[in-house]
Amino acid sequence: MSAVLAGNNSEDVANVAADLVLGIESSCDETAAAVVRGGVVLSSVISSQVDIHAIYGGVVPELASRNHLMAIRGVVGEALTSAGVGLADLTAVAVTAGPGLAGCLLVGLEVGKGIAYARGLPLVCVDHIKAHVFAPFLTEPGVVREAPTYPYIALAVSGGHTSIFEMSGPGEGVTLGATIDDAAGECFDKIAKLMGLPYPGGMHIDRLAALGNPEAFDLPRPLQNRGLDFSFSGLKTAARLVWERLVKDGTEQAQQADLAASVQAAIVEVLVDKTLKAARERGIKTVVAAGGVACNRGLRRHLSERAKRQGMRCFIAEPRYCSDNAAMVAGLGAEMLKRGSGVTGKALVEADIFVTQRRKRA
Ligand code: ADP
Ligand code: MG
Repeated sequence: MSAVLAGNNSEDVANVAADLVLGIESSCDETAAAVVRGGVVLSSVISSQVDIHAIYGGVVPELASRNHLMAIRGVVGEALTSAGVGLADLTAVAVTAGPGLAGCLLVGLEVGKGIAYARGLPLVCVDHIKAHVFAPFLTEPGVVREAPTYPYIALAVSGGHTSIFEMSGPGEGVTLGATIDDAAGECFDKIAKLMGLPYPGGMHIDRLAALGNPEAFDLPRPLQNRGLDFSFSGLKTAARLVWERLVKDGTEQAQQADLAASVQAAIVEVLVDKTLKAARERGIKTVVAAGGVACNRGLRRHLSERAKRQGMRCFIAEPRYCSDNAAMVAGLGAEMLKRGSGVTGKALVEADIFVTQRRKRA
């Protein structure tokens, strides 16, 4: 278990009156809890199951939900202790209700419901992807970080999702584009696996890419000039064919970094092109990126540089808030609470998960 951040009670005086929200996240293979007050993260605890699933090369849903059950009590306890607060101090509980793996979501939701019901607190059901694109608003005690302003174009890019949204308010937005097959993170991970790199492979491709030539292999940029949807399965096949040729020639070790750099260049180019295209088409000057793949150094650099060149402001979530965490859930939950999204009584008891993305198309 890792407490990525511990509270230190040096909050701004103005913040003391703000809502104190406990966030819970369990949509995939991270069990996480966090305490946030007024956008300031007082604690963020993440227990990752990555080692458990690594031997299978991907997340095994049943194993994931069982491990959430075992971890969640300790994770919530540690988040409260690190923040220096007790259940009695909370204003609300925010929990990821979807999208994600059903058995996994249920663990977090039921724990959140239990705490909220027992304490007479409102429960806020948060959309995991909308929470990702809220992450650039988070700060820590004593840290002032420039935040995006609405409306903004958001690229949500992770192991399970690749979408572009036009966000009009906290948790409120429409989908402008999404992947029609694999997510970008899945593409990174599958190509990495093929190249013999450990799971999850995104960060290993990122590391190798820094040592290779991004122009070494001419890989496709799928759907590049067509709309705002993404497709990554063809790129995956193209990379596989290159890798098989290298293996046949016995040059795969010598050219591994070049292939990693070329794969990363292709994925990043498409992600950046479409995000900026969406911003131009909608006449919006602020872009945001979040989700696990937003840790990618190539994506961070190219999106910031190209956005700046086009006169746009670019906000990319801090790496610690890119991959799955509960600080983003608590932060978005606090904003939704202010807008009346908290539920109590019968509505709280009946709150349910949703497994697939709620798609409100533009
Ligand atoms: P999900 O919620 O869909 O499980 P996360 O938001 O936790 O996904 O992100 C995990 C994904 O991010 C994985 O596919 C992983 O390979 C990818 N990832 C993490 N770091 C990097 C990186 N530096 N470059 C590319 N991909 C990365
Ligand atoms: Mg995620």
